[in-house]
Amino acid sequence: MKYKRILLKLSGESLMGEQNYGIDPNRLVEYSAEIKSVVDMGVQVAIVIGGGNIYRGMQAEEVGLDRVQGDYMGMLATVINSMALQSALEKINVNTRLLSGINIQQVCEPYIRRRAMRHLEKGRVVIFGAGIGSPYFTTDSAASLRAIEIEADVVLKGTRVDGIYTADPEKDPKATRYTNITFQEVFEKDLNVMDMTAFTLCKENNLPIIVFDMNKKGNLSKVLDGEEIGTLVSM
Ligand code: UDP
Repeated sequence: MKYKRILLKLSGESLMGEQNYGIDPNRLVEYSAEIKSVVDMGVQVAIVIGGGNIYRGMQAEEVGLDRVQGDYMGMLATVINSMALQSALEKINVNTRLLSGINIQQVCEPYIRRRAMRHLEKGRVVIFGAGIGSPYFTTDSAASLRAIEIEADVVLKGTRVDGIYTADPEKDPKATRYTNITFQEVFEKDLNVMDMTAFTLCKENNLPIIVFDMNKKGNLSKVLDGEEIGTLVSM
């Protein structure tokens, strides 16, 4: 197996499925099955989920509310998503632990790096909630940072497009997909992979990123089987 320990980043929006807001229960079932399939392959799995399906800090700013307050609301939204995914995984007998960057002791453990590592070694799926616990960051940054901290081999960014394209494939029909690209090229071509803070963290720590279509059944295990799915960003 090329990757023994992975960090899977899922956006909050992807959890909406066909809905306009909130959590689509079918999507939860699908994602849980995908995750279970790679746990069964013996891969150690950590997950960061966004909160965009519920709340983003920018929304607060747009209506004249305090941005920092909004960011904490966004972080709490990620905890809601994480709890939903945790429940769905446990329903299919996957052992999980939810570790939060904000202390919410009734529902999750506090984030402690050593504890996260221990859970992973024991084969438990570790879900990191509340981003990094600080405002003005995104869950992409949380994904990069936690991945580096837990010494993950790769960040798998599960999206609804099947990789990084020369242009936006939803707007430009001539856009083609990269199978491999370097951090430098992504930077020079100003391609949208992650926000700059998250991207730079990966680049500076030589942590590869794979962008792939998480909504296609079997794709997550195919990526881990080494199939050329999506786009690999590396040195
Ligand atoms: N957020 C934050 N710090 C973090 C992670 C998240 O302040 O470390 C807030 C921020 O307001 C963000 C929101 O939580 O907009 C939801 O996360 P994100 O936008 O990354 O979710 P996604 O786009 O992946 O659904």
